[in-house]
Amino acid sequence: MVSTMETLTIRTENKFRTLTTKQAYKKGEVICTMPSENIMDKPNRFTVQIAKDRHTHVGKLAALNHSCDPNVVLDTEHMLMIARRDIEKGEELSFFYPATEWEMQAPFICLCGSANCIHVVAGARFLPLSTLEHHYLNKHIREMMIELLNNTKAHLKNLKSA
Ligand SMILES: [Zn+2]
Repeated sequence: MVSTMETLTIRTENKFRTLTTKQAYKKGEVICTMPSENIMDKPNRFTVQIAKDRHTHVGKLAALNHSCDPNVVLDTEHMLMIARRDIEKGEELSFFYPATEWEMQAPFICLCGSANCIHVVAGARFLPLSTLEHHYLNKHIREMMIELLNNTKAHLKNLKSA
């Protein structure tokens, strides 16, 4: 299995970057390993979150756009980009940003047009579980979601006993 970044091309149109593939992939196939150029404790618009307080620049993969119906998954535990479904040669690659991002530094409005579009892309903490459960979520996102739910439960309990 060859998995290099050489099969990926960045296209720029009106300052809008896209990442496309020169090769077809089957569902579940590893497309490439995720580069990690440096680790920061705060996100910016080019970083990918890989753990609770860890954000990294990902080289060419920074050109990946968000989609609510994405064709790739970023597995931040194993640092791999994986095909979420069969992908054709020439297709633009996209992933679901809240699958890695808990709270984004630069939220935006999604115009992907998919039936299950979340519209406001701001990070997983702003989405209901009923939306998140339809998506691949990385371990750190699942853990932070559980932490948030536990904190909410504890808070409600305090309110009742006050
Ligand atoms: Zn959308």
